[in-house]
Amino acid sequence: MKFGTKVIHAGVEPDPSTGAIMTPIYQTSTYVQDEPGVHKGYEYARTQNPTRTVLETNLAALENGKHGICFASGLAAMDAILKLLVPGDKVISTNDLYGGSYRLMTKVFAKYGIDFSFIDMSDVEGIRSHISEETKMIWIETPTNPMLNVVDIEEVAKIAKSHNILVVVDNTFASPYLQNPLDLGADIVIHSATKYIGGHSDVIHGAIIVNDEDLRSQLKFIQNAVGAIPGPQDCFLILRGIKTLHIRVQRACENAEIIALYLKNHSKVGKVYWPGFEDHPNHQVAKKQMKMFGAMVSFDLQDNSVGNAMKVLSGTKLFALAESLGGVESLIGHPASMTHASIPKEERLKVGLTDSLIRLSIGIEDVDDLIEDLDKALNLI
Ligand SMILES: *Cc1c(COP(=O)(O)O)cnc(C)c1O
Repeated sequence: MKFGTKVIHAGVEPDPSTGAIMTPIYQTSTYVQDEPGVHKGYEYARTQNPTRTVLETNLAALENGKHGICFASGLAAMDAILKLLVPGDKVISTNDLYGGSYRLMTKVFAKYGIDFSFIDMSDVEGIRSHISEETKMIWIETPTNPMLNVVDIEEVAKIAKSHNILVVVDNTFASPYLQNPLDLGADIVIHSATKYIGGHSDVIHGAIIVNDEDLRSQLKFIQNAVGAIPGPQDCFLILRGIKTLHIRVQRACENAEIIALYLKNHSKVGKVYWPGFEDHPNHQVAKKQMKMFGAMVSFDLQDNSVGNAMKVLSGTKLFALAESLGGVESLIGHPASMTHASIPKEERLKVGLTDSLIRLSIGIEDVDDLIEDLDKALNLI
């Protein structure tokens, strides 16, 4: 099955008891048993729920994986993955990371004796010198947030395999439509389904996809033991969003290309970050591992002034000033004070995340209107 068919059909069957074509919301906490221990596969809804099962099957298919496991949020999914580790274990991560992921690693898991190092992975060879006996996991975010660097998943996976290290890819920014890390040798894919997968900015949700049976059972155990599960209504909304994932991401990427070029030619705009530019340092890698170049674009102002950045941020009407990304509507954000406020300033500046950097999540509106909106805001400075 091709991607555009999987989004609609994978795991989704008409409800056997009524013929309902859409997956019902099984709003129940428990299930009747025929005799103790004899049941239809469902006992208690922390452990399993039929709406969630359909979503998990569908998500696994979208990532060409065997098993999907869903959580109440992207960070809850990440928390489950990090609980595979034990004190003394080390994790190597990309340095330009979603702020909440950085916070979970450094403020929560570091306390339990897990060590994290944050490095620039745009040059893959640089990873080798950070690997030690204790390294158990490499955490990749690609494209990165908000600098849109690209990490070569296949090359990192090769290095990791030779040291028996698990490779986790946070595939939120690309979405399964653009990039499938398991095919490139990753062990675990994680999504904040809050973003492109849900796509309508109306639900918080997270997912993990794996191939390995042992990893699946460890993660299922953590999911059930800890309980950070999504409710059936949220699973329904994600399933509904997925049906148009390919069309939404396709259009958003087309819009992003036009907007990235427009910004690049604008006299008041400084550097524009978008992996589709031929002079982007990882353009070739992006071309190799992504179907299109994504719908996130970041840029600086020519004069690098925070005051002018603030004028642009509050000057758009269609681009709403808000956290998050990946919805049908376009958003504008200021990473330094919003999504990345929990990252120390020295760390931010090291990766080029200046105080005047602006991040756009391009939606699926008519691109002419989006450009007109940006043009008016840029003319305020
Ligand atoms: C939003 C996001 C997360 C966290 O997901 P939540 O659903 O908000 O918990 C993790 N990684 C990336 C790249 C994100 O954008």
